[in-house]
Amino acid sequence: MARNPIQFQSGLSLPAFLEQYGTEAQCQAALFQHRWPKGFVCPDCGNTTGCRLSRGLYQCHHCHHQTSLTAGTIFHATHLPLTTWFLAMYLLTQRKNAITGTYHAIRGHHAPRYLAEFEYRFNRRYDLKAMVPRLLTVAARTPPMPYRLLKLAESYA
Ligand SMILES: [Zn+2]
Repeated sequence: MARNPIQFQSGLSLPAFLEQYGTEAQCQAALFQHRWPKGFVCPDCGNTTGCRLSRGLYQCHHCHHQTSLTAGTIFHATHLPLTTWFLAMYLLTQRKNAITGTYHAIRGHHAPRYLAEFEYRFNRRYDLKAMVPRLLTVAARTPPMPYRLLKLAESYA
């Protein structure tokens, strides 16, 4: 019987993940690369020249608009370090077990979220090592969403 290459792929090991995203500076560099792959772009005027200020903000040379690396992304206004978010992305994407093995009790109220997570992993199972960077790209390009809209999505899933 042929060995299933999807099931037996190695995935991203925890040491390899920590080597790539183990520090806050590494996570910031990765988020910058995924948010602005061709360099800084002002979210206000689209200008491509700017500088990094001492407080970690970026300032546009044209309109002097100041923005942070996380502003306008799914990480907007987070109080958690990026290393925590990256670890969550790692844990979300690298697990191979199913819902039944992951959660011992699934309430109907939370079932759509569990199914969405499972579906996300299932649809991207062909390349486990690429899942963290892919999820990071999506996170960097997804605007923040108010909690009430998230609740609506859960209700109509
Ligand atoms: Zn600007």
